[in-house]
Amino acid sequence: MNKSDTERILGMLAHFGYEEVKEPKEADLLMINTCSIRQLSADKAYSYLGVWGKRKKKNPALKIAMCGCVAQQDKEAIFKKAPYVDLVFGTHNIYELPELIKRMNNGEKVLAVDETPYPSVERFEIARTQGINAWIPIIEGCDNFCTYCIVPYTRGRERSRKPETIINEAKNALANGFKEITLLGQNVDSYGKDCNTTLAALLKELNALEGEFRIRFVTSYPTDITDELIETVKNCDKVCEYFHIPMQSGNSAILKAMNRRYTREEYFKIAEKIRNSFEDVTITSDFIAGFPGETEEQFLDTLSAIEELGLDYSNTAAYSSRELTVAARWEDKFIGEDIKKERLERLNAKNREACLKSNKKYIGKTLEVLVESYEDLAYEDIAVGNCPPYRGKTILKGRARNNKIVHFEGGKNLVGKFVNVVIKDAKTWHLLGN
Ligand code: SAH
Ligand code: SF4
Repeated sequence: MNKSDTERILGMLAHFGYEEVKEPKEADLLMINTCSIRQLSADKAYSYLGVWGKRKKKNPALKIAMCGCVAQQDKEAIFKKAPYVDLVFGTHNIYELPELIKRMNNGEKVLAVDETPYPSVERFEIARTQGINAWIPIIEGCDNFCTYCIVPYTRGRERSRKPETIINEAKNALANGFKEITLLGQNVDSYGKDCNTTLAALLKELNALEGEFRIRFVTSYPTDITDELIETVKNCDKVCEYFHIPMQSGNSAILKAMNRRYTREEYFKIAEKIRNSFEDVTITSDFIAGFPGETEEQFLDTLSAIEELGLDYSNTAAYSSRELTVAARWEDKFIGEDIKKERLERLNAKNREACLKSNKKYIGKTLEVLVESYEDLAYEDIAVGNCPPYRGKTILKGRARNNKIVHFEGGKNLVGKFVNVVIKDAKTWHLLGN
């Protein structure tokens, strides 16, 4: 979502005559789009600002801007922490950017962090930064208020974009040669509740567009996955058999404390329904280790869930306390940093094991790969097992419908093409083939 916002910002800046430069030292304006999902990402953003502040000392004409979720959350406090910042704008003020920049260039210190979302204005071109996969936000914000999560505070309430604007954006991307459309939302499967439609209906419309391309959608909230959605994914040839459905914890008591609206058993039923509906389907998840009050036993339920569900991949994180959220008030239940770190390591080990197991299923199978890029990987990095020696050759990198990364040898002219690849070997994070 942040990358997609950045593309919108780049598009607007280009519209107003700004050009992207290769090196920060060449820039007249440095801007950072931030994420505040965990403290680590917020800290990273501030450390960039620190470096840029020093740059500004040498070049006082340099302008510095901060936007995104940290900006939305910290507001004027940013000027206190980093007085050299010229412009702070939140997630709801992106569309005012031209006006904000004008004020900044007139010497004003500008703060624009509205609490109410902008109307869905589609005035500006998007400067897409990658030529194969087009991200299209279809629903923004979140109504769920999970007790650990900052998103409802930084992104506001759920609001769906109109189907026709989404279809137009998809048509434009396809006309420009894009081969994959990824529909984005904090809860993408809530799409349409506020405008009398559904994600399934939108997928059907997109699937009917002409051309050879794929469609994906992320992120799904478990209980919003309807039978109709599963059927639609099954019946629409362009929609990939891939579901990203964060479970967060494998323990029902922790799920309740997280304010997730399902139990372990209910999540298992949803996953089973999906698995039973397809010959081959990928299910991936997110998990948090060390949520306040989590016991060792409850943590073990998370590890067993990954294994029993046969999850294909999971994003993992140690719990990070976020100001404003409900769980941030449960200090007496906080888990020590050392325990959190140790649980995260075990969670990562279990995830690696699950990924490798999932990848091994594909050895000997043929997968349709959309080639995204080529890499100059050294022989040692890539050639293993039954694979041919890749030294001195071009190694292509692409994704199969199941979202697995596939490396194989081939000409650079295959970038952007769909290629059938026979899988020869499986590593933890990727497949190797011919
Ligand atoms: N809407 C999606 C998730 C969006 S946030 C959902 O509900 O499933 C992306 C991921 O960041 C979450 O799935 C969660 O695993 C992680 N996350 C969010 N807040 C966090 C926190 N305070 N500490 C650690 N991880 C967090
Ligand atoms: Fe955050 Fe997702 Fe929960 Fe919304 S549903 S509060 S985005 S974790």
